[in-house]
Order: sequence, then structure tokens, then C-alpha cells
Amino acid sequence: MKPLVITIDGPSGTGKSTAARRLARRLGYLYLDTGAMYRAVALKALRAGASLKDRRRLAGLARSSRISFSRGSRQVRVLLDGTDVTLAIRRPEVSEAASVVATVPGVRRALVRQQQAIGAAGGIVAEGRDTGTVVFPGADLKVFLTATLAQRARRRFEELQSAGHRLSLAEVLREMRARDLRDRRRASSPLRRAKGAVLVDNTRLKSDQVLDKLSDYARRIIREGGGCLD
Ligand code: C5P
Repeated sequence: MKPLVITIDGPSGTGKSTAARRLARRLGYLYLDTGAMYRAVALKALRAGASLKDRRRLAGLARSSRISFSRGSRQVRVLLDGTDVTLAIRRPEVSEAASVVATVPGVRRALVRQQQAIGAAGGIVAEGRDTGTVVFPGADLKVFLTATLAQRARRRFEELQSAGHRLSLAEVLREMRARDLRDRRRASSPLRRAKGAVLVDNTRLKSDQVLDKLSDYARRIIREGGGCLD
């Protein structure tokens, strides 16, 4: 049986990245952080001084970007045109710009094409907003991860604090709410639960519990020889 394609979608701060990274490691699969790709294009646009309203320019930047991932000893490194941008793409102004850049259909088309090429052979855990709806609609296992806004903001606030960024919890919550709305309301591939996606509420779960739940789903599918749950 071909190794599975697994997608994990949901809003920011639900613990998607941790769940996807750990699940990929447990199964020996590739971890694909699609959000990092939108962030990399946003960083490139900011560095080039491009207007975030200039859709043609943004789409051109996305098409000309070489984004790749390399597995470091402790974390997956993100390379943009050969340069390590792992830390730079996590800055708050890049988060904000990524959510704007991600509304541009030409940017999405360019990145989706790259994501599909990366996942073509299976053996992948892809994480983002549209991986189950658009990038891999035929995925073997689709997960939609949620958590309350308050919990998500707290999680992101703690991440930012430990990375040395000085934003208040109220600011993080306000920005997260605005980005959620932009993700859900955009015309091109809005954030929504894919058909057949299992819903996992991560508000009260520990990281280990989410991992066990998702690996149980995956192993069940592997045991039964493929196909969706339900
Ligand atoms: O997941 P992360 O916060 O790193 O994603 C950065 C931004 O990229 C999100 O705010 C979202 O707007 C966008 N995104 C997207 N589709 C994806 C992944 C991320 O629109 N598949």
C-alpha cells in the first residue's frame, strides 16, 4: 500500500504544527508546513518593498520563490531561495503579511502546485488551512483541529514571549481574530472543514493525547488498507 497522505487544517494557534510534526516523525513521514510557504512569500515581499496590494507582483514573487525544507537536528529549517528564513518568517509583521498574501489567488496557485509536487508520492503530513479541501482533496486522513480563541491566543502569546517578542495578550488576541476572519472570508480557498475531515478539539488536550489520537486514526487506515475513515 502507498504511504498515506494526511492533512491537518484549522485556524492559527490550535497546535496544528506540533501535531503534524510529531505525527510525521512517529510515522516516518515528511512534514509539510504550508503556512511556512505563505510566510516565506510574505517575507520576500516585505524585503523587496512590494506593496501587499500589488497582486500581480505578489503572484510573480510566489512563482519565482524556491522554498524548501531541511530537517535540522531539532527543528525543520525553512529555506527561501537557498537562505535560511526559519526564524525570520515567525516575526509578527510576517504573520500579518502572510495572511494578506494568502488571499491572492495567483500566490495560492503557485504554492499549491509546489505542495502537490512535494506530496505526490504520499508519506506526508501536510498542515495548513486548505490542505484537505484544495491541495490534497483525496487525502487518506483529513483532520480539522480547533480550539477556543482564548486558548489559541494564549498559546501563540507564550510562543511569541519565548521567542522574545513583546506583544500583549490582548494584542495577540486582536490580531488572531482579524487573521481568522481573513482566512474564513477570503474568496480563494477559505478556511473550512473538508468533507470527511475528523474534527478534533484541542482546547483541553495535551500534545501527547492529540498525537495518540491522530496516530490511532492513521494506523487504523493503514491496517484497513487505505481509504477515508467513516
Ligand atoms: O499556519 P501559519 O500561521 O504559519 O500560516 C500563515 C498564514 O498563511 C495564515 O495566517 C494563513 O492566512 C495562510 N495560510 C493559508 N493556507 C495554508 C496555510 C497558511 O492561507 N494552507
